[in-house]
Amino acid sequence: MKVTEHIKQAKGKTLFSFELIPPVKGKSIQELYDNIDPLMEFKPPFIDVTTSREEYVYIDKGGLLEKKVTRMRPGTVGICSSIQHKYHVDTVPHLLCGGFTKEETEYVLVDCHYLGIDNVMALRGDSMKEERYFVPTEGGHCYAKELVSQIRNLSRGEYLHETIDSDDNADFCIGVAGYPEKHLEAPSLQSDLKRLKEKVDAGADYVVTQMFFDNQKFFEFVEAAKNIGITVPIIPGIKPIAIKRHLQLLPQVFRIDIPQDLIDAVEACQNNKDVRQVGIEWAIQQSKELKSAGVPVLHYYSMGKSDNIKAIAKEVF
Ligand code: FAD
Repeated sequence: MKVTEHIKQAKGKTLFSFELIPPVKGKSIQELYDNIDPLMEFKPPFIDVTTSREEYVYIDKGGLLEKKVTRMRPGTVGICSSIQHKYHVDTVPHLLCGGFTKEETEYVLVDCHYLGIDNVMALRGDSMKEERYFVPTEGGHCYAKELVSQIRNLSRGEYLHETIDSDDNADFCIGVAGYPEKHLEAPSLQSDLKRLKEKVDAGADYVVTQMFFDNQKFFEFVEAAKNIGITVPIIPGIKPIAIKRHLQLLPQVFRIDIPQDLIDAVEACQNNKDVRQVGIEWAIQQSKELKSAGVPVLHYYSMGKSDNIKAIAKEVF
């Protein structure tokens, strides 16, 4: 079932959902199940599974290092299908422009359709770690908006190179990313919002936001989005701080601000166990306020561990 249908069916009740990262290749999927199991009591109608960008690896060829590109956490669509079968819950595989040609994307979408996956998240992807700027893949898309159009075209039977008259077109519900504190490359929040509107106009059905720690920024973002005509549901993304280094890492990677009260509370902690607790308590307060404001879904970034998400969900749902 589509994410937007879940939201409609909930009739104003805030839903719980979360995002998972595939295990590093070679590791068992059991690791994921162990993190999903404790969260199922909160009845997530859908679970997101990320797709990772490729990385450069260097292979020793008799003393000469050969540079290769590899994806360390493949398997997104396979994991989504396994989760749907095991837990009878909808999944949302993340699709990226970066690292995929349009043809490869088309084949992934065909797989998703056959596997009974009704939702996808359309993203550009970040630059590779070794690159300063996002470099589009040859034969791939430059921006998420183009990916949204490709996905939406399928609902009319419009494949890349042919139009197929069929009564079984893949009609995905499409999510896209939004940034309450603007995307790091955007020249301004207003121009980033216009880009978001372009994604919605291209066919996106809902928005999930980047993490934020100050709800006011989310409320202002939703208001500004409404003012430029974005009417699809906007789902807040919540990440509980878990280690002291997040104080530097999260602003550096995601260009987000951390409120001074939260910084002070984290800095006062003696160890990361205490930091985890501070992160949980902050996220509970954030979640309760967002829920009271009537957000359709609270979507948690689990980053592979679910104990803190469970502690938050217990207080909020
Ligand atoms: P876009 O919407 O394409 O925007 C990228 C930038 O280009 C923005 O600054 C925008 O303002 C600008 N822009 C857009 N269109 C134009 C145009 N026509 N001309 C000029 N500028 C333009 N990354 C992963 O690698 N894997 C994941 O699974 C993943 N999941 C995510 C989930 C969520 C909810 C969020 C918020 C982010 C996720 N990301 C993921 C990170 C995301 O890939 C990065 O933030 C990426 O840098 C931008 O992706 P986007 O889809 O927002 O890009």
